[in-house]
Formats: sequence, C-alpha cells, structure tokens
Amino acid sequence: DEISIATLGSHSALNILKGAKEEGFRTICVARKRERIIYESFGVADEIWEVSDFTQLLDESVQKKLREENAILIPHGSFNAYIGKFDELLVPIFGNRVLMEWETKRENQEKWLRNAGLRMPKTFRSPKEIDRLVIVKYPGAKGGKGYFLATSYEDFKEKAKKFVKAGFISEEDVEKAFIQEYIVGANVYFSFFYSPVYERIELISVDRRYESNADGLGRIPAEVQLKKELDLTFTVVGNFPIVLRESMLAEAIEAGIKVYEESKKIAYPGMVGPFCLESVIDEEGRMYFFEISARIVAGTNVGIPSSPYSYILFGENMYMGKRIAREIKLGIEKEMLDEMIY
Ligand code: ATP
Repeated sequence: DEISIATLGSHSALNILKGAKEEGFRTICVARKRERIIYESFGVADEIWEVSDFTQLLDESVQKKLREENAILIPHGSFNAYIGKFDELLVPIFGNRVLMEWETKRENQEKWLRNAGLRMPKTFRSPKEIDRLVIVKYPGAKGGKGYFLATSYEDFKEKAKKFVKAGFISEEDVEKAFIQEYIVGANVYFSFFYSPVYERIELISVDRRYESNADGLGRIPAEVQLKKELDLTFTVVGNFPIVLRESMLAEAIEAGIKVYEESKKIAYPGMVGPFCLESVIDEEGRMYFFEISARIVAGTNVGIPSSPYSYILFGENMYMGKRIAREIKLGIEKEMLDEMIY
C-alpha cells in the first residue's frame, strides 16, 4: 500500500515534507493553528491536520488515522520537547526510537560520546571543583536561557542566585546543574546520516547557529557590556552553513563513525538515519564534542537543496529531508523497511 510521510509542523518539517514530496510520497503535517500558515504557504503538505497541542499526536484517534494512512513518522526536535516518551506512540517511526529517547539525558550523551572515544570538554561533578572557565547548563532551561559562564565556585553561587531571582531557573535546577568546561573557539555542527541500505555514514551538511544575544554581544564594546551588565544567552534564531577547512573533515568523519559504532552497544541495531554532533574547535584546531542528537536537527535546514558535501556524495541535490525519504524509498524497493522503521 502507498506509504505517507508524516511529521509535526515545526523545527525541520519544511525540510522533511519537501524531501518526502520530492521522492514521491504523500505528506501529512500535524500542525498547530499558529504555525499552520507556514505549511500552507509553502505547499509541502498534502494534508494538514490541525491540533490544539502537539501532545495530541498521542491521542488514540490521531494515531489510528495515521496508521490508516500507512504513515511513517519522522521525528525531530519538537518530538523530544513536546512528546518525550515514545512508547505511547504506536505508529512506525523512522530511526531508532530507543536511542532518541535515551539521548535526551545529558548524562547519557556524555557517556555515549566518551565511550566512543571523542574529545570532550571536562565535566565538573560539583561546583566546588570549578577551576577554569565553565558553562553551566540546566535540564529545564530551554534554548539556553539561564545558562551562564562562571570561573570559580564563588562566581557560580553568585550567578546562580541572580538567575533564580530573575526566574530563569529554579533552586532545584541549581542542584541539577550540568557544569562543563567552556571551550573558546568556533562552533561547528556536523549532520550525518547512517544508511542501513548502503551501510555507511554520510556527511550531509555542516552548520553553526545564530544565537541571541551571544552573536550580538561582540558588536558592543566591552566597557558598554560591563556597564549594562549584559548576560550571555543562547536563544537560537537561525543557522549558517559551513564549509570546513578540508583537513579537519578527517576528525569529524572519524567521530561520526565512532559514535555509530558505540550506538550499536547502546541500543540494537544502533543509529539509523540522521544524527548530529555538536563541536567547538579551539585555536589549536582541537575539536571538542559537547552534544549529540540522535535525529534530524534544525541546522540541516541550511542544506536545502544541497550542501557542498551532499552534492559531492550524490552528484545531485540532496538534503536531510530528501535523504530520509530516499532511504525509505530504497527500503521499500529492497524490502529493507523493517531495518529502518522502529
Ligand atoms: P540544544 O539541545 O538545542 O543543542 P542546549 O540547550 O542543549 O541546546 P547547548 O547546545 O548545549 O544547549 O549549548 C548552548 C550554547 O552554548 C551553544 O551555542 C553552544 O555552542 C554553547 N556551548 C555549549 N557547551 C559549550 C562548551 N562546552 N564550550 C563552548 N561553548 C559551548
């Protein structure tokens, strides 16, 4: 029967739905009223199902309809943010849903990257151990609001107090703070795809984020920053494409392969489809990996219709949404769908 590709209307849905259409699939977008206009105006969805809340995806009636449409769901960042648990989702998902859920915990990400043997910023178990510039992250803080930099325990206590007062974080957050060495350098995010059909890791695109106010602070002289007591925040407003200095690609590709190999030990059959490694490269050219996403990231949106890397690999326009749909198409042709749908 004809398969439909479905996703939630946010994050990278334009990317996913356009790619699915280009590969000849019927597309369904489950959208909220306020974002519906996006998917309508770009005409990427054959059907738009309006919901009042993304958690409605879990409603029995919605799931039943999706199954009747032979839908394969493509999860993205909003699935983690709004749905969380995948076990209530009784619709086929492209990718390894166990890894996707496992990865939402920072401690698990750290375990994954460390066991894979990647260079990481140092983690501090207690704020008392802070002996260098660190970034303090919280489980609850969305979009990096309430994250701060500190250079000592005293500094940590002072800033935490200030942020609790401002309502960015709670007292409980402070206890659960994730404290990591801050690497001064250039941010580079690598988006890979593991293909069960070709049994290989593909580098699809590379990007960096455009963040408010982190990317605006540098435009203000230090003396003004001090006078206005500006705090560093990381609200993502977009992404830029990057072409990496070629010799640095070796380490990135090796990291992608190591992470894939490690994923097989975490949850059978390991990584399937898109994943992203977030890195900072310091002035010596050392690459530090600080985060992993086991799904499509919004940064891949810069790779539509193609990135230099996906073009070199495929000799045609290729981007993450299209790559996912292509794999599903190949999976149907080669009767391998059950190796990519979980
Ligand atoms: P997301 O889950 O969307 O990636 P997040 O809330 O987990 O976001 P991070 O990506 O971990 O936040 O960090 C937010 C910002 O801080 C990013 O710009 C990132 O580049 C920067 N950053 C995070 N950790 C480090 C680090 N150890 N050294 C330097 N910069 C860092």
